[in-house]
Amino acid sequence: MGKSSKDKRDLYYRKAKEEGWRARSAFKLLQLNDQFQLFKGVRRVVDLCAAPGSWSQVLSRELYENNKDSEIPPKIVAVDLQPMAPIDGVTTLQADITHPKTLSKILEIFGGEPADFVCSDGAPDVTGLHDLDEYIQAQLILAALQLTTCLLRPGGTFVAKIFRGRDIDLMYSQLGFLFEKVICAKPRSSRGTSLEAFIVCLGYKPSTTWKPTLDLNVSTEDFFKGANIGRYELRDDLEYEEEKRNVAPFVACGDLSSYDSDATYTLESDITRISLDPVQGPTAPPYKKALEMKRNGEIKR
Ligand code: SAM
Repeated sequence: MGKSSKDKRDLYYRKAKEEGWRARSAFKLLQLNDQFQLFKGVRRVVDLCAAPGSWSQVLSRELYENNKDSEIPPKIVAVDLQPMAPIDGVTTLQADITHPKTLSKILEIFGGEPADFVCSDGAPDVTGLHDLDEYIQAQLILAALQLTTCLLRPGGTFVAKIFRGRDIDLMYSQLGFLFEKVICAKPRSSRGTSLEAFIVCLGYKPSTTWKPTLDLNVSTEDFFKGANIGRYELRDDLEYEEEKRNVAPFVACGDLSSYDSDATYTLESDITRISLDPVQGPTAPPYKKALEMKRNGEIKR
């Protein structure tokens, strides 16, 4: 989160800097927690796709800071492709959530114990090709879900960012086979104009006969075989028969009278406000090498 003139207009962006959050996304997790009490009784949590780390900051504040003196303080693991600056009580892993090795690293940190809560705010780099972007995002959610099924204790909670595209109701119904309750939630701090929302999956209840195993050579479809999750069936007459689909209840959360993230605010006090520095500078920005070369006089412009 850099210095910007929007600083004064998008109040969640501004508030994030004032309160020391690395990204405005912190408010989304805080508002989801206000609605669903996600952190209650949580001892082991995994934050997937965590950089720059505002969700991990929230987890650190809500879980670690309050319990750091207890005999066994809560364990928080944050995973991202990008490096992350350290956060108190959070173990960071620079890793790909789609790779099976990531699972064993997380389990090692947890001493083989399962997680109580897994969250994922993952978003791939956009290509601008809408269908491709939608497909990659769907694959990332599935990768997060696969990892979650290998990590989460029965009764545990999974929260993930989704984009409410064409096929989202199929995902709701599949999740309905794995969790007691699946809700689509839209925090107040998530822009109303964006398709972004969060699936909140409560009460993990995998089939007792299913043992999920991550393997690079196993397709997603084969992975979920045996999990008894709904899927399309190809009939002999080559017509698709769809299983009955579930529609997840939709919940708007956060104080609805608080700031609207799509609105432009021109508060009087803004006149006196100055742009704030970023809470956490970028750890490995793509332009780092260019800046170094410029400093060394190797490039002119
Ligand atoms: N929740 C974060 C926060 O509060 O600071 C923001 C997450 S950001 C919107 C999305 C992140 O997903 C990016 O940092 C990106 O590197 C990460 N990501 C995308 N694909 C990934 C993958 N395959 N494995 C790990 N991280 C991934």
